[in-house]
Amino acid sequence: MRVGVTLACSECKQRNYTTTRDKKKQGEKIEKKKYCRFCNTHTLHKEIK
Ligand SMILES: [Zn+2]
Repeated sequence: MRVGVTLACSECKQRNYTTTRDKKKQGEKIEKKKYCRFCNTHTLHKEIK
């Protein structure tokens, strides 16, 4: 079962990305380093509800 999740910048809290996650395979929350156009650099993006 795949669920949609939103990734938010850990610096400015903007919600920059959406992705899907397999609940069975991945129990932990997603954290990815992605480009944030608000911070104008790569920052850590974390899954939010
Ligand atoms: Zn940001």
